[in-house]
Amino acid sequence: MAQTDADSSVKVAIRIRPLVNRELARGDRTVTTVNEFEHQLTIGGKATFTFDHVFDCNTPQSSVYTNCVNNLVEGIFDGYNATVLAYGQTGSGKTHTMGTGMDLTGNIPPDDLGIVPRAVQHIFDGIELRKKEAQENGVLPPTFEVTVTFVELYNENIFDLLNQGKDRTKITMYEDPATNEIQLAGVKNLTVKSPEDLMEALRSGALNRTVGATNMNEQSSRSHAIFSIYLKQQRPCQTLDADSAANTTVDFEFLTAKFHFVDLAGSERIAKTGATGARAKEGCNINMAYAG
Ligand code: ADP
Repeated sequence: MAQTDADSSVKVAIRIRPLVNRELARGDRTVTTVNEFEHQLTIGGKATFTFDHVFDCNTPQSSVYTNCVNNLVEGIFDGYNATVLAYGQTGSGKTHTMGTGMDLTGNIPPDDLGIVPRAVQHIFDGIELRKKEAQENGVLPPTFEVTVTFVELYNENIFDLLNQGKDRTKITMYEDPATNEIQLAGVKNLTVKSPEDLMEALRSGALNRTVGATNMNEQSSRSHAIFSIYLKQQRPCQTLDADSAANTTVDFEFLTAKFHFVDLAGSERIAKTGATGARAKEGCNINMAYAG
């Protein structure tokens, strides 16, 4: 449900994708109109809905990033966690927007890059920037450690997409009583040193995803995928000596933040996809995951 309270920690953006060739060929027409100023979407000239952001079909990937994700990535440098998830039926453009498709070959034109590759570059640029700033100001530079996990939720099972060993399904989910945080035990946590390392982790994980063909979109995944980036930071902070303003001591503060990117499987009704048998059961489980 859309939440438009300015102070809300949940923001909802809607993106209209252009009609694809198959839809143009059968004579489909666009029935949406967008009022970007008012953040409103009107369907069929009748029903109007308001969201935090509304992006029309000609909105470039860079605008979606700048408006919705840029500040969240800046926030992880100050220890704030964030989650970005895509929701919609198969073929609606989730994978395109997130940039987590199976075709992560590194040959995607820069303008077409989705949210995740942009965020990855942003994080490493941010690390370099903060080290450079410290150097220029003659203070101790912060140190960073970036790790990544990539798991898939498929038919109620959790798979580790970064671990192809036999133990890749031996993952347990529990709530840590000390922190009240949901933890996944047994997941491979990969340390990465560069945007290339991180994208390679994403690419190899994406190739391992379980993909099922439906009538709606042959390439679309039938599973939920959660790609998480963890940033650990140690940075100096100066403490003023209470007795003498001239004396300052350098302490270190530790900050940790995690950024989850969630690529949800399609939310369409089973009848519309022509799915039967095991695939239909899969559809039930996909939608159950939304309810859970
Ligand atoms: P989903 O992941 O929701 O199943 P996809 O991301 O695979 O959907 O999108 C379905 C098709 O529409 C793909 O061919 C994709 O390239 C295209 N598409 C989606 N969003 C856009 C967009 N904003 N601009 C251009 N093409 C898009």
